Amino acid sequence: MRRQRRTKIVATLGPASSDRAAIAALFRAGADVFRINMSHTSHDSMRTLVSTIRAIELEVERPIGILVDLQGPKLRVGRFASGPVTLSKGATFTFDEDPAPGNTARVQLPHPEIFSAIEPGHSLLLDDGKLRLTTTAVTPGKIVTQVNVGGNLSDRKGVSLPDTTIPFSALTPKDRSDLEAALDAGIDWVALSFIQRPEDIAEAKKITRGRAAVMAKIEKPQAVNRLAEILEIADALMVARGDLGVEMPLERVPGIQKFMTRTARRAGKPVVVATQMLESMINSPVPTRAEVSDVATAIFEGADAVMLSAESAAGKFPVEAVATMNRIAEEVERDSIHQTIVQAQRTDPEPTGADAIAAAARQISETLELSALICWTTSGSTALRVARERPRAPIVAISPILATARRLSLIWGVHCVVAEDAHDQDDMVERACRLAFKDNFARAGQRVIVVAGLPLGTPGATNMLRIAFVGAEAGRTL
Ligand code: PEP
Repeated sequence: MRRQRRTKIVATLGPASSDRAAIAALFRAGADVFRINMSHTSHDSMRTLVSTIRAIELEVERPIGILVDLQGPKLRVGRFASGPVTLSKGATFTFDEDPAPGNTARVQLPHPEIFSAIEPGHSLLLDDGKLRLTTTAVTPGKIVTQVNVGGNLSDRKGVSLPDTTIPFSALTPKDRSDLEAALDAGIDWVALSFIQRPEDIAEAKKITRGRAAVMAKIEKPQAVNRLAEILEIADALMVARGDLGVEMPLERVPGIQKFMTRTARRAGKPVVVATQMLESMINSPVPTRAEVSDVATAIFEGADAVMLSAESAAGKFPVEAVATMNRIAEEVERDSIHQTIVQAQRTDPEPTGADAIAAAARQISETLELSALICWTTSGSTALRVARERPRAPIVAISPILATARRLSLIWGVHCVVAEDAHDQDDMVERACRLAFKDNFARAGQRVIVVAGLPLGTPGATNMLRIAFVGAEAGRTL
């Protein structure tokens, strides 16, 4: 079973898509990776979803990726004495540490770290940015603000601080417990929310210890400013446009999306474009023209994956949303302009054996119009470097490690196959040809290129490429 597109689809699971039949239908419609959002999922439900996906994986005989998204340090105001209050433009409003219910003049801000980090002039955005306040004075235990954009404020509404770097870890006690549970359940990717600096990723990596790959959700200006350092440590990026559009002016989000996509592609790490891609499909079976264009833009930029949130988790048309993304990706990738744009943004290989081989394999596959570029990969790093080249030929990644194949399901253009390690070089080439034949990537008489690292099973030792004919005998059972 092969997809007819290179861009991958991440579908968030939720009430509209939590039983086996619904998840299997999303997979058949085109979902490559399933996202479990721990803001709305208990440990028991997460474990049930993971085992359901693993059962579907066995049935469809394709590796499926599971991404667990941690809630992160979501900041909220305290409660009010008698329902919502109205803050008027120009009024003074104070945040303090007093747990007493708030009123039109003050409310508790139950996050002590903020009081030592915020400075006069810094903005506070409340309730998804609907209300905007500027700090005028900070005294011990008090932040005095002036209301620039007023409105109603009710209990426990969210607070964003785009100008303030807060000295706390991106992992709350809830995140730590969710992460341990997710690692025990054997998930493949973990996404960290509201990170501010590279140390936040390093902290999560100390816990994951390679058991899952770590994705940095970029949704704060502080993280955008330190993107290169974050990307050095993270295994992937998510353009988390929902919160990014609260913390930064909305009109800056498209530019940041392009900047992040290009930076991640240059580094050879996957990038996922997320949030509101087909938002109207929560209630409608057909997307808006603007939404189709938004998905197409991410694909033209060569993003590894596009993501659905509420559309697949809580909408009325989850399967239609995935099928729509699938159709958009297939069509955009058939457009010759797609090739031109994706190729134009390719960056030079780095001076390593793996990159030299990956670049040469891409070049040879184009010159000889080969049917597939096949790589043997233990850790997945060879497949990542080949995908970084964005070759025209499909990439087939063969790994003896199921966890590697599952992680690679997020990567642009990579069709993953789990197979026993080859005995020697000839066996490796012969089996690569047979696997490509079996999954319809090459017919008898066509040629493929095979890339690997010798000695076999040595991660990061990419040093071999062979052009091979797929013989008639490739049709024999493996
Ligand atoms: C986002 O903010 O765009 C995002 C993906 O995060 P969440 O859905 O967890 O708010």
